[in-house]
This record gives sequence, structure tokens and C-alpha cells, in this order.
Amino acid sequence: MSDLKKKYRELSCKLLNPNEIQQLSKLRPKFVVFDTLKSWILILICFLLSIRNTNIFFNLIALIVITTQIYSLLIIAHDGFHRRLFHNKNINDLWNDFFILGFMGAITRINNKNHLTHHLRLCEFDDPDRYKYQSKGRSSMMEFFFKISSIPLIFYSFKNIFIKPFLKNKKFNNKNKKYLTIPSYSIRDILIIFSCQTLIFYFFLNYLSFLKLIYLWFIPMALAQSIDIFRVFSEHSRPMIDEISDKSLRLSNFKINCLERLFFSPHNMNFHATHHLWTSIPYYNLRKATILVEQNAIKRREIILTYKSYFEPINNFYQYVRSI
Ligand SMILES: [Zn+2]
Repeated sequence: MSDLKKKYRELSCKLLNPNEIQQLSKLRPKFVVFDTLKSWILILICFLLSIRNTNIFFNLIALIVITTQIYSLLIIAHDGFHRRLFHNKNINDLWNDFFILGFMGAITRINNKNHLTHHLRLCEFDDPDRYKYQSKGRSSMMEFFFKISSIPLIFYSFKNIFIKPFLKNKKFNNKNKKYLTIPSYSIRDILIIFSCQTLIFYFFLNYLSFLKLIYLWFIPMALAQSIDIFRVFSEHSRPMIDEISDKSLRLSNFKINCLERLFFSPHNMNFHATHHLWTSIPYYNLRKATILVEQNAIKRREIILTYKSYFEPINNFYQYVRSI
């Protein structure tokens, strides 16, 4: 076990006891069903209201609402990557694929490799998400602002999630034998993606238009992906060189207002340090877990970095780049 892994293990053992972890890790699938359906109903209402509605202001509001709800669905899908939606793995994957990922052209079993490896390798050079938060490549104002826009990183993220699972990489595979198997799409996967894509294209081309397919579906999906990249930078970046940042473990929680929660961190994802330390805890218990963690941290004199806004680490990094 690497030194970093030992530090994460020690911290997680110190801050919650096994009984607390067990209680907090209990799954309550009714929350998943409710939250998934709620997001889809809001998206559908926007779609239906936009039929024959060409008002620019209305369509802009619809785009914003749809983006927030697609992002909410992606956060639920993230718990699906960890297989924390339902007790049964097959039901977890079916729900996650049919109600969320199939619409993005993805499949849990195949596309979760990137995220699970990120958890295993956070603060290591082979973390596949390292490009989202590292200081390297952000040492000038131009690089910093260009990357904060997420534009160059979306393509990299797409490659990591959709292309990389199929590329053999011997060095990577040897270190992570658990993720050695090269997945391939089954008939089930193809049927799910085909059904979801047909449904969305049929609806838009019959009841709305091709332009609205771009405006109310593809653009919100790209925006949701950009928001995710922005969130990860805020959570894991540190205003210093990477060698020192890695030693800090790069764990942060955020106590933020409702607007930031809506746009950047729905479903308690702002308690990100808590999620990294105990991935078994489902999203709806992260707030409760964080309260307990904070109480135990005070007793044990441990510190988990807590910010009051997602813009706070951005400002810290901006000041760092200015000072270089
Ligand atoms: Zn995760």
C-alpha cells in the first residue's frame, strides 16, 4: 500500500467508526427513484413548454433549467458508478444506464473505469482526472483562464471516459489489476443506448426541431460537463506546486449557498472530501456524514479543508498564478 493510501485509510478510520460507516452506508433506493424522476419531469416540462415557443428569454431559462437537471442526473449517475443506487448490482446498472447514461451514450459497466481509477489514484501522477486539477500547465494567466473555461478539457474528458476504456495500457493495467479487463458493449448495452438515443431524437425531430435538439439538449449536456470540470478543479486544486499539493491529500468540503448547490453541486456533492474518504456512503447521507466527521475531527484535531464558495479556491489559485 502506498504512503498516500495509508494516509487516506488512517484519516477515514479516525473520523468515522465502523458502526457509523455502516449506518451511513445504508441504501435507500426510494431517494434515487424520486430524484431521477424529479429531474426528468422538470426536463420534460421545459421540452413541452418550448414547443411552439420561440421567445428567446423563455428558451434561455429552459436551457438553464435543463442544464441544472442534466447535471443533477449526472451526480446520481456518479453514485451509480460506485454501485450505490440499489442493493442489486444489475438493477443499479439498469437504472443508471436506462434512465441516465444511455441518453449520454454511456454505460455504467464500461464508463465507470475512469472515475473508479480517479478514486484509487487521487494525488498520484497516473490519476486519469489529474489534468482537471493539477497546477502544472496553469502557471500563466492565459493557461489558467483557458482551462477554467473547461473548453480544452471537455475533449480530454470525452477521450478518457469513452475511448480510453478500450485502449490497452500495460503499465496502467499492471498496477490496477481490478480494472484489467477490457470491456466491450453487450447486446443489452447497445439496445439501451439505441433506445435512449432514438427516444430523444424522435421527440425533438417530431415535436420540436433540430435547432432545439442542439440548443436544449446538446448544449446543456456540454455545459453540465464543463460545470463538472470546474467543480473538480475547485475541490482538488491547491495554490502551490503539485508536489506539495499532493501531500495535502487534496480533500475539500464546501459549505455553500443554495444557488451554488443548484448549479455546481447538487445532491450533496459539495461534501466531496467525505465522499472520497467513504465511497460507500450514498449521496443523500453525505450531509449527515459530514456533520459527524466534523465533530470527530475537532476531537481528534484533524482538519478537513472547508470552503464557503466554489469560487474561493479559484481566487486562491488566481492569486498564486499572479505571484509566480
Ligand atoms: Zn466518486
